[in-house]
Amino acid sequence: MSTDLTRLTAAQLSEKLVSGEVSSVEATRAHLDRIDSVDGAIHAYLHVAHDAALERAAEIDSQRAAGASLGALAGVPIAVKDVLCTLDMPSTAASKILEGWIPPYDATVVARLRSAGMIPLGKTNMDEFAMGSSTEYSAYGPTRNPWDHGRIPGGSGGGSAAAVAAFEAPVALGSDTGGSIRQPASVTGTVGVKPTYGGVSRYGAIALASSLDQVGPVSRTVLDAALVHDVIGGHDPRDSTSLDEMWPSFEAAARKGQQERSLKGVRVGVVKQLGGEGFQAGVTQRFTEALALMERAGAEIVEVEAPNFEYAIAAYYLILPAEASSNLAKFDSVRFGLRVTPEGGGTVEQVMAASREAGFGPEVKRRIILGTYALSAGYYDAYYGSAQKVRTLIQRDFDAAFEKVDLLVSPSAPTTAFEFGSKTEDPLSMYLNDITTIPANLAGVPGLSLPIGLAPEDGLPVGLQVMAPAREDARLYTFGATIEALLEEGWGHPILDLLPAQPVSGEAAHIAPAPGQGTEPEGGTL
Ligand code: GLN
Repeated sequence: MSTDLTRLTAAQLSEKLVSGEVSSVEATRAHLDRIDSVDGAIHAYLHVAHDAALERAAEIDSQRAAGASLGALAGVPIAVKDVLCTLDMPSTAASKILEGWIPPYDATVVARLRSAGMIPLGKTNMDEFAMGSSTEYSAYGPTRNPWDHGRIPGGSGGGSAAAVAAFEAPVALGSDTGGSIRQPASVTGTVGVKPTYGGVSRYGAIALASSLDQVGPVSRTVLDAALVHDVIGGHDPRDSTSLDEMWPSFEAAARKGQQERSLKGVRVGVVKQLGGEGFQAGVTQRFTEALALMERAGAEIVEVEAPNFEYAIAAYYLILPAEASSNLAKFDSVRFGLRVTPEGGGTVEQVMAASREAGFGPEVKRRIILGTYALSAGYYDAYYGSAQKVRTLIQRDFDAAFEKVDLLVSPSAPTTAFEFGSKTEDPLSMYLNDITTIPANLAGVPGLSLPIGLAPEDGLPVGLQVMAPAREDARLYTFGATIEALLEEGWGHPILDLLPAQPVSGEAAHIAPAPGQGTEPEGGTL
């Protein structure tokens, strides 16, 4: 019984809650039990709110029994990335500097999911301050990919993606500054959406790079992502970058795709610069097959040039560290977080330096140094200024492409999930992994990743990235749900049905600290 409930999508669970077949307490308990049995091995969660989740579920059940009108996802559990502030749970962004910090307020997205009656199960693991593509930079040890415990679940939001893939939550929230929702979705066989910049509030999201950050949904189906997006999206006066406009129903957009299953008249652009050399053969193969499927469904496939995408990584890895170094200046040991006093005492500056030295991990320090250098007097124009110019050129590439096509597609990531430790020695090789996802952040356009099969050479999930013009998120949901429905028609089942059954006992797996902060986890056991 309890295992079955964890296999349901949020939409299916919602139907059973509405019909009274299942209570929210049962659904929540099933997920908590699942977490208890598998998370020792997966380590998707940094904090699990056992009691609060069950209490809240009981409240929703009694509201329903009393005939209250509840939202579509009322009573459905959800996991929350630890970068989001939560009033009743620690919010650490997976950093030692915020260990045990409980914010005095909820992020707007968290407040919205609570008022929609959703049940927060806990906080999920991530790369420290959302810097990374593997979750290996978490100060609390990495998350394992449910498909292969010797491999990364993607990053920075590996915890949210792994929780959803391992049936430890039906849906989750993530944040995406350069791909941290889409890339983990890609390598775990789940769905992830980075909304249009400004489409979802960042109030209460611990900032990484403010001109790039977006909060968004992680799920096992396109429809579930749409349902969560409907709950968290929309204008927020507390976020000055929030778009003040009416959004269509993303649920309706996804259902349209599910029902019609046709791409007649849809012009799909294949970005030449986001594929080819350097991409794993099996990734390219599945991507090519997906293009053929789109064509069969009536889409017109067009090759599109985006010449400036070549410079996206270089621009991003100047803009991001610059903004991050400024955002992270607030962790000074004075207002909140870790405080380390040097032996024998010290000046305020010495206390700050000692606290930041002890509280930040190696990748965070690297980016603070890089960003501070890029912003320093005399270098600003050469680095940050030039990067911003390149950013404008990338935006123009998108504008030109969207004059010709309705949507752009590419593989969501150049490879399937890589092995632990294979990229931590060389930061550049980690950064290069973001080639496909970064352009959308630089331009503020929405992007969705959905699974399109397993790579033949390693049996690991491959993701398709779909990008739309700004504000056209609904287009992603209709298109994504169409592709998903057509693929599942062929497969006869969702991709996660292929997730290998595995020894899930907590003792079986040893979770070690992140590379660079201790020893690496042992190899895969699947
Ligand atoms: N991999 C990217 C980085 O390390 C993604 C960050 C993000 O989206 N939060 O910056």
